[in-house]
Amino acid sequence: MTQKSIVAETVDSRSLVQAHFAEPVVPQYSEEELQAWRDRIKRLLNEQNAVLVAHYYTDPLIQALAEETGGCVSDSLEMARFGAEHSADTLVVAGVKFMGETAKILTPNKRVLMPTLEATCSLDLGCPPDEFSEFCDQHSDRTVVVYANTSAAVKARADWVVTSSIALDVVDHLDAQGEKILWAPDKHLGGYVQRETGADVLLWDGSCIVHEEFKAKGVEDLKALYPDAVVLVHPESPAAVVALADVVGSTSQIINAAKTRPEKRFIVATDQGIFYKMQQECPDKELMVAPTAGAGATCRSCANCPWMAMNSLENLCAVLERGDNEIFVDAELGRKAMIPLQRMLDFRKG
Ligand code: SF4
Repeated sequence: MTQKSIVAETVDSRSLVQAHFAEPVVPQYSEEELQAWRDRIKRLLNEQNAVLVAHYYTDPLIQALAEETGGCVSDSLEMARFGAEHSADTLVVAGVKFMGETAKILTPNKRVLMPTLEATCSLDLGCPPDEFSEFCDQHSDRTVVVYANTSAAVKARADWVVTSSIALDVVDHLDAQGEKILWAPDKHLGGYVQRETGADVLLWDGSCIVHEEFKAKGVEDLKALYPDAVVLVHPESPAAVVALADVVGSTSQIINAAKTRPEKRFIVATDQGIFYKMQQECPDKELMVAPTAGAGATCRSCANCPWMAMNSLENLCAVLERGDNEIFVDAELGRKAMIPLQRMLDFRKG
């Protein structure tokens, strides 16, 4: 069977695949409404000496506002670093709960607010501190490396905290010292780290509900129609999808690859929120969303984190007006969690 006939069986037409092209971001407000929200939030940020720190997966309107107001739009490692080094009294963290907690652990003297306290993460939810601690006790000969997408209590139990942009380097470093690793919570990222470094890695069974949905078959079909397209994959995706990647990397590394590579087309397997920054950084390139649904599915793509999407201009404004949704971390827990976090920041500098 030729490649073309395989495609014909699984993808009805080129026009169906066109649906995967990333669309320009369409604001859900009129220009006047949008301006009113912007002005109100800017004034509040100014009055409270506050800075907005937003993740790439949040609403593009929030990302744009963070940029306009001297805040930061980035991945979780850079968000942590930016918040810790910024002179503002208040950090407003638009993202999910572990990001607010991380900011508070790193800067306990600052006020940390979040637009919503309901926004969590399947990786954090899937790694309850008590069960995780028991798992660590059962494997006490291993160095505990946890992903940033975890609660303060899980971080406090770890030797190292890593983000996806630094995970390979840290595990490589530990492996070179002969250390065996206990990895949590994302099994896909952990599996990728294990394959790449050859380290002895014991995996916790967690996953990201967004990245887990990417389908290797869908990526193959899209790639068959666009053989010139470069496949960019976040390592929280399943191994079969990672195996099809030209570049595997964190959100920042994915953006950088699209920006610096000479090719014009990219298939991107990560949350669609990233397209705001990618379109801004490389306006001349064609960006396609990696398929998440099988043939016949009615949704275009599920690559949208439901928790990241809970951040809005409304609740961002409300938290600045009311001062609620403040993040608190128990001082002793924060002190313990700070040790593996600081280790990561120092490693990055070194
Ligand atoms: S995209 Fe996945 S890893 Fe990121 S916050 Fe959402 S559930 Fe967690």
